[in-house]
Parts: sequence; C-alpha cells; structure tokens
Amino acid sequence: MGLVTMKYEMKRAMKGGYAVPAFNFFSFDNLVGIAKAAAEKKSPVIAMATTGGIKVMGEKAVVKMAEGISADYGIDMVLHLDHCTDIELLKRCVDNGFTSVMIDSSKKEFDENVADTCYCVDYAAKYGVTVESELGHVGGKEDDIVVDDMSVMFTQPEKALEFVNLTGIDCLAVAVGTVHGFYKAKPQLDFPRISAINKLIPGCPLVLHGGTGVPYDDFREAIRRGVRKINVGTELKVHGVFDPSVAGYNDPASKQDPRAVSKLVIAKVSSICSEIIDVMGSAGKA
Ligand SMILES: [Zn+2]
Repeated sequence: MGLVTMKYEMKRAMKGGYAVPAFNFFSFDNLVGIAKAAAEKKSPVIAMATTGGIKVMGEKAVVKMAEGISADYGIDMVLHLDHCTDIELLKRCVDNGFTSVMIDSSKKEFDENVADTCYCVDYAAKYGVTVESELGHVGGKEDDIVVDDMSVMFTQPEKALEFVNLTGIDCLAVAVGTVHGFYKAKPQLDFPRISAINKLIPGCPLVLHGGTGVPYDDFREAIRRGVRKINVGTELKVHGVFDPSVAGYNDPASKQDPRAVSKLVIAKVSSICSEIIDVMGSAGKA
C-alpha cells in the first residue's frame, strides 16, 4: 500500500482489459472520499492534483497527504499531476514524490509538444515517474486552460504513433470527442478513431479526458477499444465541495461543526467515485 506509479497500474489494466479511474481532488476531504471508494471497491485508483489545486494546497502537503491517506486506507494510489503547462512546477512535483505527471503542451506545435514532452520524460525517468502527454486537443475548460469548442482538434492516429515513438511516453491523452467541463450537447465519441490509435500504438495506454457527463455505455465502449485511464474532475469539483443540493450541508449542526461538513463531502465524493469504479470495470482489481 502507498503510492505507486501509473505505469504499474496501466500495465495491469492493459492485461485485465479495464480502465483505472482518475479523479481530481481539491482538498483533504476529496482525497479521503476517493480513497474510501477505492478501498471499499478494492479498485486501483489515480488521484489527480490540478495545478490550480496545488497552488492552494502546496505540492509537499499534497504528497504527504496522499501517502498518509493511502496508508490509512490500506490501498495503492497513483498520485498524478494533471494538465501541467508549467515545466518548473512539474519538476517540483517529480522531486517531491508525485508518482505520475502530465505535461500538457498540446496547444503548441507538434515539434514543440515533442520537445517539451521529451524533456519531461527524461526528467521523470530519474525517479521512475510516469509521464502522460496529450496530442490533439481536448476542448473545454480545465483550470485556467480555456479552449473554444470550435477549436477542438482530434488526435490523428499516424501522428500519435510518431509522437509516442519520438517521446517514449507511458500513456497518451487523446482528443476523440470529449470536452472538459459540462457538455452543451450530447458528447459524440469517435470510437473508430480510438480503435485506430490503439491499433497503431498497442503498447501505449490511452487516456480519455473530460469524463463528466459521458454516458456510461460510451465509457464501456471506449474501454473495449483501448482506453485505460478515464479522467473525472468536473463532477467532483461541483459536488465534492459545499454543495447546497446535498442534504445536510445547510443543517445548523453543519454550520457549527466542520467535521459534520467533512463527513458529508467524503460520503458524497465516495459515492460518485464508487459508481464510476463500477463502470471502469476496475473493482476487485487492486
Ligand atoms: Zn483533462
């Protein structure tokens, strides 16, 4: 138990034909809720700190928190840095004990994306830390990265092969029709594209971003076609904090006792995560 790399979990997921759920967290309570669900479901789990979240919590505290919580719950946990455009921050996270990082230079030109990614792969290799990178662009809103829905660019399979060969990354985030945040219209996943990419780079697990609001059957189909990590963030951002729609948040007892609020947040996060773990097929795979 404790922190493990994403490479380790991806290898097992490829063998087992399931996806490992990746959840964003923004506070101690969020992370406890994630760990609780993983422990109860005996599921592998990826806990993702965002760059914005780290600005609030601090990278050293995040690492210690993840180490402590995974030990308390007796689980393996991947501590992952989500969507990092700041290479200095990424290096600090690697130095301080994150077991996985995502460099996101997907908005840059192909060659620059390759160069940034190669630099991070080299740096992370010192500690055996996993590197995820993105090719193509997943639209929508993720922290301070905002993309116009119109500019969404899907991942080209041949480019993906070239990118993986040039960079040696451990997993690839693909743009196949999901967006970050809530969907304005029903998401249209390009399933043949997932299969085409997977066929060209069968050894490189694929990552699906923008999981909130995607129908569960679409998740299952994406997993059948080679997706091995699915990111869910927005749902936890909305319900993993003080959500007035959750019964109890407005009780007088909650207002006077922060522990009462923490318990509600943990329970809510844990129930969201448990439901998603069942869809990923990762329950019992820890
Ligand atoms: Zn994302």
